[in-house]
Amino acid sequence: MVGTENDAGSQPLLSDRRRSRDTMTTIIDGNAIADGIRADLTDCVDELVAAGTRPGLATILMSDDDASETYVSMKHRACKEMGIENIHDEIDPSEPAEVLFERIDDLNEDPSVHGILVQMPVPDHVEKRAVLERIDPLKDVDAFHPENVGRMVAGHARYKPCTPHGIQKILAAEGIETEGKDAVVVGRSDIVGKPMANLLVQYGEGGNATTTVCHSRTQDLPEKTRDADIVIAAAGVPEMIDGSMLSNGVVVIDVGVNRVEVSERRSEGSQTESDEADTEKGYELVGDVEFESAREKASAITPVPGGVGPLTIAMLTYNTVKAASLQAGVDVDLP
Ligand code: NDP
Repeated sequence: MVGTENDAGSQPLLSDRRRSRDTMTTIIDGNAIADGIRADLTDCVDELVAAGTRPGLATILMSDDDASETYVSMKHRACKEMGIENIHDEIDPSEPAEVLFERIDDLNEDPSVHGILVQMPVPDHVEKRAVLERIDPLKDVDAFHPENVGRMVAGHARYKPCTPHGIQKILAAEGIETEGKDAVVVGRSDIVGKPMANLLVQYGEGGNATTTVCHSRTQDLPEKTRDADIVIAAAGVPEMIDGSMLSNGVVVIDVGVNRVEVSERRSEGSQTESDEADTEKGYELVGDVEFESAREKASAITPVPGGVGPLTIAMLTYNTVKAASLQAGVDVDLP
């Protein structure tokens, strides 16, 4: 059941927050939450270094895609800021799959590398599943290897996938209880929707929710989302969820990152604070949620950008630090 209008519930809300116009909606600041986690993780890095191990993350890019390049460089920057060593390889997308597999094999053997990330998507001639299975499960900081997926589903995760884990951190930081709540996850991908739903139904903190997973074949999606206390939107469809699909007091987590042409939105009369920058790029980023109408209903909502995205990167560094700790046999106090 959902709460009263814009009622944030009895839980204290912890983050420094902005209030939307004349309501009590919390606009969740993902950057601030990620900064806090990164600061704690930097202490863990320092402890590991003092014990003789500097955490190392290897990234491999086998794509000419602009967005993939941007994501990889954001991950490098995050590592650098925290003192995590970063090894980066680029493989021409026209190369055979074997070149990628051999590189993964080398990194699996390299003791200075604790985490390996192959930026997706890989070219069509490379089987994605074979890539994920090639990575040593102990170095699988994306947590997509079947062994790590199995451990998570069984309730004893070694690593949790970065985006769903980051969403758990957001909910915890904002004091948003999941236990006994009705959660609706829109999307059933292996990287977001399915693991998110799985974490929400696990026993313990951040779990114990009654969880419904929706997808493109779901009939009457608005009926499902209107019944939810927490809606997590991860469909990749620009602004598909609007206020009319939500109940008062709902918590809205918008995972979607969609590029929308600026001219398209201008003609619809939509204006944002970053209009000038957007015009230069020719596109702007929007989520799966129509922010303005959704925030009129929500007790708390993540913006795009600045909501879930920063947590995804922070949790990659979390998994890298955890991987280094496990491989070095040095305990650290992870946040
Ligand atoms: P996928 O395309 O892999 O999955 C999308 C899911 O949404 C599918 O399960 C699909 O259903 C479902 N879906 C699509 N259209 C509808 C619809 N109209 N109604 C209901 N369900 C629908 O995407 P990802 O999970 O990889 O990513 C989702 C979004 O999140 C993207 O915008 C992506 O860019 C973003 N993202 C953001 C991250 C961040 O850090 N902020 C990290 C990862 C992703 P079906 O299975 O039936 O096809």
